[in-house]
Amino acid sequence: MPSNESPIPSAPGKHTPASSSSIPPWVSPHLPSLLRVEHGPNYTSRALSLVDLPPGALFARITSPTAAKKAYTSVQAGRDLHIELNSDLVFINHSCKPKLVFDMRRWEVRVAGGGEGIRVGDELTFFYPSTEWEMDRGFECRCGEVCCRGWIRGAREMEESVLEGYWLSGHVGELLGERKLLIHLDDIQP
Ligand SMILES: [Zn+2]
Repeated sequence: MPSNESPIPSAPGKHTPASSSSIPPWVSPHLPSLLRVEHGPNYTSRALSLVDLPPGALFARITSPTAAKKAYTSVQAGRDLHIELNSDLVFINHSCKPKLVFDMRRWEVRVAGGGEGIRVGDELTFFYPSTEWEMDRGFECRCGEVCCRGWIRGAREMEESVLEGYWLSGHVGELLGERKLLIHLDDIQP
């Protein structure tokens, strides 16, 4: 049972309502009932939540990926695997205080743990270096958060002390661990 007892709208026509409330959308994640895309000028589209969910809850599954070349729309799903999401999940922007995590081992998107969860109308965001090891080009973040990290790059080029504060997808955690080991080996060599 979710700890959040507030009523959550069910996906239209998809579920049989339970006797006293409705089945929450994350049971059978159906994107049109979970997020709304707002298209702005100059590629400033963003995704807004249609649901309230507590920290750690499943938000959506990644169900329509295709292997792809690294691009500004792709997500890194493994050491040597980049995918296109082929869904409205692509409109989830970066933030230095993200609402969601992309868990590329489980192929699911969850509400970030430890925060306040998500509320209807919140902009949906994730921390791009949590999946991207390298980026062709960094970008100046304008998330507006107090903790904003400014210039955002792939995890490989971010300060380790910064990354430690974030949930990281499995391949990024592994690559960081290997890099640490290599640095350590360099240090102990005569
Ligand atoms: Zn930022």
